[in-house]
Amino acid sequence: MTLLPIAKLGNPMLRQIAAPVHPDDIASPAFQQFIDDMFYTMVETHGIGLAAPQVSRSQQIIVMECSGEEGFPRTVLINPEIVFYGPRQEESWEGCLSVDGLRGKVTRPSMVRARGLDRHGQQLDIEATGLYAVCIQHEMDHLIGKLFLDRMTDMSTLTQLDEFERFWKEDHAAVI
Ligand code: ZN
Repeated sequence: MTLLPIAKLGNPMLRQIAAPVHPDDIASPAFQQFIDDMFYTMVETHGIGLAAPQVSRSQQIIVMECSGEEGFPRTVLINPEIVFYGPRQEESWEGCLSVDGLRGKVTRPSMVRARGLDRHGQQLDIEATGLYAVCIQHEMDHLIGKLFLDRMTDMSTLTQLDEFERFWKEDHAAVI
Protein backbone atom coordinates (compact mmCIF):
# COMPACT_ATOMS: atom_id res chain seq x y z
CA MET A 1 0.00 0.00 0.00
CA THR A 2 1.29 3.45 -0.89
CA LEU A 3 0.60 6.68 0.95
CA LEU A 4 -0.20 9.10 -1.87
CA PRO A 5 0.80 12.77 -1.47
CA ILE A 6 -2.20 15.09 -1.03
CA ALA A 7 -2.52 18.07 -3.37
CA LYS A 8 -3.12 21.19 -1.27
CA LEU A 9 -4.99 24.44 -1.85
CA GLY A 10 -3.22 26.33 -4.62
CA ASN A 11 -2.30 23.20 -6.58
CA PRO A 12 -3.82 23.71 -10.06
CA MET A 13 -4.85 20.02 -10.12
CA LEU A 14 -7.57 20.83 -7.57
CA ARG A 15 -9.14 23.31 -10.01
CA GLN A 16 -9.34 21.04 -13.04
CA ILE A 17 -12.34 19.18 -14.39
CA ALA A 18 -11.61 15.47 -13.90
CA ALA A 19 -11.88 13.13 -16.87
CA PRO A 20 -14.17 10.08 -16.83
CA VAL A 21 -12.63 6.65 -16.35
CA HIS A 22 -12.93 4.25 -19.28
CA PRO A 23 -14.93 1.29 -17.89
CA ASP A 24 -12.50 -1.18 -19.49
CA ASP A 25 -9.68 0.19 -17.31
CA ILE A 26 -11.43 -0.54 -14.00
CA ALA A 27 -10.46 -4.24 -13.81
CA SER A 28 -6.76 -3.61 -14.40
CA PRO A 29 -4.43 -4.42 -11.47
CA ALA A 30 -2.94 -0.91 -11.63
CA PHE A 31 -6.39 0.70 -11.28
CA GLN A 32 -7.39 -1.65 -8.44
CA GLN A 33 -4.11 -0.86 -6.69
CA PHE A 34 -4.83 2.85 -7.05
CA ILE A 35 -8.24 2.40 -5.35
CA ASP A 36 -6.55 0.53 -2.48
CA ASP A 37 -3.93 3.28 -2.21
CA MET A 38 -6.68 5.91 -2.10
CA PHE A 39 -8.41 4.14 0.80
CA TYR A 40 -5.08 3.70 2.59
CA THR A 41 -4.25 7.40 2.13
CA MET A 42 -7.74 8.47 3.26
CA VAL A 43 -7.52 6.42 6.47
CA GLU A 44 -3.91 7.39 7.25
CA THR A 45 -4.74 11.09 6.88
CA HIS A 46 -7.93 10.73 8.99
CA GLY A 47 -10.35 11.64 6.22
CA ILE A 48 -13.74 10.07 5.50
CA GLY A 49 -13.56 10.66 1.77
CA LEU A 50 -10.99 11.25 -0.94
CA ALA A 51 -11.27 12.23 -4.59
CA ALA A 52 -8.60 11.30 -7.16
CA PRO A 53 -7.71 14.94 -7.99
CA GLN A 54 -6.67 15.31 -4.32
CA VAL A 55 -3.88 12.81 -5.02
CA SER A 56 -3.03 14.51 -8.33
CA ARG A 57 -4.92 12.21 -10.65
CA SER A 58 -7.53 14.12 -12.65
CA GLN A 59 -10.05 11.30 -13.03
CA GLN A 60 -13.61 10.83 -11.78
CA ILE A 61 -12.93 8.49 -8.84
CA ILE A 62 -14.01 8.96 -5.23
CA VAL A 63 -13.66 6.74 -2.18
CA MET A 64 -15.54 7.18 1.10
CA GLU A 65 -15.92 5.40 4.42
CA CYS A 66 -16.95 6.43 7.91
CA SER A 67 -17.46 4.25 10.95
CA GLY A 68 -19.62 5.13 13.93
CA GLU A 69 -23.19 6.18 14.51
CA GLU A 70 -23.42 8.72 11.70
CA GLY A 71 -21.20 6.62 9.48
CA PHE A 72 -21.63 5.05 6.08
CA PRO A 73 -20.25 2.01 4.28
CA ARG A 74 -17.00 1.74 2.32
CA THR A 75 -17.92 3.20 -1.06
CA VAL A 76 -16.15 3.60 -4.40
CA LEU A 77 -17.86 5.80 -6.97
CA ILE A 78 -16.43 6.04 -10.48
CA ASN A 79 -17.85 8.51 -13.03
CA PRO A 80 -20.53 9.60 -10.54
CA GLU A 81 -23.47 11.87 -11.21
CA ILE A 82 -26.10 13.23 -8.86
CA VAL A 83 -29.50 12.41 -10.32
CA PHE A 84 -31.66 13.90 -7.58
CA TYR A 85 -31.31 16.58 -4.90
CA GLY A 86 -33.71 16.54 -1.94
CA PRO A 87 -35.70 19.74 -1.37
CA ARG A 88 -34.33 20.48 2.10
CA GLN A 89 -31.03 22.28 2.79
CA GLU A 90 -28.79 21.53 5.76
CA GLU A 91 -25.83 23.39 7.18
CA SER A 92 -22.79 21.53 8.53
CA TRP A 93 -19.10 22.03 9.25
CA GLU A 94 -16.69 20.82 6.61
CA GLY A 95 -12.95 20.48 6.38
CA CYS A 96 -10.82 19.14 3.57
CA LEU A 97 -7.62 17.09 3.39
CA SER A 98 -6.48 19.57 0.72
CA VAL A 99 -7.15 22.63 2.92
CA ASP A 100 -5.01 22.39 6.05
CA GLY A 101 -6.24 23.72 9.35
CA LEU A 102 -9.55 25.31 8.32
CA ARG A 103 -13.17 24.48 8.95
CA GLY A 104 -16.24 26.24 7.62
CA LYS A 105 -20.00 25.89 7.49
CA VAL A 106 -21.50 24.84 4.18
CA THR A 107 -25.17 24.56 3.29
CA ARG A 108 -26.08 21.72 0.94
CA PRO A 109 -29.15 19.64 0.04
CA SER A 110 -29.71 17.19 2.91
CA MET A 111 -30.43 14.27 0.59
CA VAL A 112 -28.99 13.20 -2.74
CA ARG A 113 -29.31 10.27 -5.06
CA ALA A 114 -26.08 9.46 -6.89
CA ARG A 115 -25.23 6.99 -9.62
CA GLY A 116 -21.89 5.71 -10.78
CA LEU A 117 -19.79 2.58 -11.13
CA ASP A 118 -18.30 0.64 -8.24
CA ARG A 119 -14.76 -0.81 -8.21
CA HIS A 120 -16.00 -3.85 -10.15
CA GLY A 121 -17.53 -1.69 -12.86
CA GLN A 122 -21.06 -2.47 -11.68
CA GLN A 123 -23.71 0.25 -11.70
CA LEU A 124 -24.28 1.73 -8.25
CA ASP A 125 -27.32 3.72 -7.17
CA ILE A 126 -27.02 5.42 -3.77
CA GLU A 127 -29.58 7.38 -1.80
CA ALA A 128 -27.75 9.29 0.92
CA THR A 129 -28.68 11.60 3.80
CA GLY A 130 -26.74 13.20 6.66
CA LEU A 131 -22.97 12.92 6.65
CA TYR A 132 -23.01 10.53 3.68
CA ALA A 133 -24.84 13.12 1.55
CA VAL A 134 -22.40 15.84 2.61
CA CYS A 135 -19.44 13.61 1.79
CA ILE A 136 -20.75 12.66 -1.67
CA GLN A 137 -21.37 16.30 -2.59
CA HIS A 138 -18.02 17.48 -1.22
CA GLU A 139 -16.13 14.75 -3.10
CA MET A 140 -18.04 15.28 -6.32
CA ASP A 141 -17.17 18.98 -6.12
CA HIS A 142 -13.49 17.92 -6.25
CA LEU A 143 -14.21 16.35 -9.65
CA ILE A 144 -15.31 19.72 -11.05
CA GLY A 145 -12.52 21.75 -9.47
CA LYS A 146 -14.55 23.10 -6.54
CA LEU A 147 -13.57 23.24 -2.88
CA PHE A 148 -15.82 23.65 0.17
CA LEU A 149 -14.52 27.23 0.45
CA ASP A 150 -16.25 28.00 -2.85
CA ARG A 151 -19.54 26.66 -1.45
CA MET A 152 -19.48 28.77 1.72
CA THR A 153 -22.10 31.49 1.58
CA ASP A 154 -21.06 33.06 4.89
CA MET A 155 -17.29 33.38 5.27
CA SER A 156 -17.71 34.53 8.88
CA THR A 157 -17.83 30.88 9.94
CA LEU A 158 -14.36 30.17 8.51
CA THR A 159 -12.43 28.87 11.51
CA GLN A 160 -8.86 27.84 12.22
CA LEU A 161 -8.50 24.35 13.59
CA ASP A 162 -7.32 25.27 17.08
CA GLU A 163 -10.20 27.71 17.51
CA PHE A 164 -12.61 25.10 16.13
CA GLU A 165 -11.38 22.68 18.80
CA ARG A 166 -11.84 25.42 21.40
CA PHE A 167 -15.27 26.76 20.47
CA TRP A 168 -17.04 24.40 18.07
CA LYS A 169 -15.70 20.94 18.77
CA GLU A 170 -19.08 19.54 19.84
CA ASP A 171 -20.51 20.32 16.41
CA HIS A 172 -18.08 17.91 14.70
CA ALA A 173 -16.77 18.52 11.22
CA ALA A 174 -16.61 16.25 8.22
CA VAL A 175 -13.02 16.18 6.95
CA ILE A 176 -13.11 15.03 3.38
ZN1 ZN B 1 -12.01 17.81 0.18
